[in-house]
Amino acid sequence: MRYIRQEIFKEMGKNGQKKLSKSTVAVVGLGALGSNSAELLARAGIGKLLLIDRDIVELSNLQRQSLFDENDVGKAKAASAKDHLGKINSNINIDFFIDDLNFENIGKILSKNIGLILDCTDNLETRFLVNDFSVKNKIPFIYSSSVGSKGYVFNVIPNRNNPCLRCFLKEATQLDTCETVGVLNTITNLISSIQVNEALKILLNKKLNVSELVRTRSQLPEKNLLFFDVWKNEFLKIKINKNKNCVCCVKNNFEYLNGKKSSRIIKLCGDNIYQIKSKSIDKNQFNDLKNKLQKISKLIDFGYCINFDNKITIFQDGRALIKAKDENEAKSMYSKFVGN
Ligand SMILES: [Zn+2]
Repeated sequence: MRYIRQEIFKEMGKNGQKKLSKSTVAVVGLGALGSNSAELLARAGIGKLLLIDRDIVELSNLQRQSLFDENDVGKAKAASAKDHLGKINSNINIDFFIDDLNFENIGKILSKNIGLILDCTDNLETRFLVNDFSVKNKIPFIYSSSVGSKGYVFNVIPNRNNPCLRCFLKEATQLDTCETVGVLNTITNLISSIQVNEALKILLNKKLNVSELVRTRSQLPEKNLLFFDVWKNEFLKIKINKNKNCVCCVKNNFEYLNGKKSSRIIKLCGDNIYQIKSKSIDKNQFNDLKNKLQKISKLIDFGYCINFDNKITIFQDGRALIKAKDENEAKSMYSKFVGN
């Protein structure tokens, strides 16, 4: 009875529902996109969910992360998400990891029997790591991102002909983040809906042959990059071609998975200071960053470097010194305020 409204949807049916109940989906990142997508997956009856996030819930998250409430502030997102999702649907299995997904632990956390990975992270380094893992192990994943009033969704279904994320996303430093330019809760909810909708199609289409596709009138997963701007009511489908020289899906050189591209983080002596040098930035990008940060909190400009909120010192080349209680918090602050 629980899934009756979904089962009478003709493209789902009882068989489709059974398929969902046998599926395992990993959600990487439990911010607005990840927590909303995880909730939709739990309600839809995905048999097993794997939740991964390194952060704790902050008050400023509640504007858009509807799975969490005021009692969760200060708690780990992955643990809080499991608690809430378990109350929403006690018939499914939920595992969680309070950890930074990196090249050293991804093989242990994301086992090969995962059917689908949702990328709901806030940084390119983890996205490219997931992309490497997905292409190498031929596990589909769905990229999602949103900032301001805009968002993107893209299905990566690894095979000889399909493009991957590195076919079109460049490694250039991404300076716009939710912390520096904001984000509307309407775009994150929309992007989660689109992402989970694609997830259902991918899970339902698994191992279907052509005649079954016709019989079930199945809609194939989207091949284009989807773009939405809710403020302007703009929607675009952008065709993505496979890059014949793609370092990941063509040359199978998994730079993020083997740790070559892992951002360098060093614990400095003394007062819990971490040094992070991720991507290089140029002078214009440094000035842009300075302008954005000074609108948010106290900023001291030393010329060669800036100090933001007495917590982060950022140098012109992108190197940052961060006061944090541990490495994960430092990394998280770097991706929030400097971007990567
Ligand atoms: Zn590629």
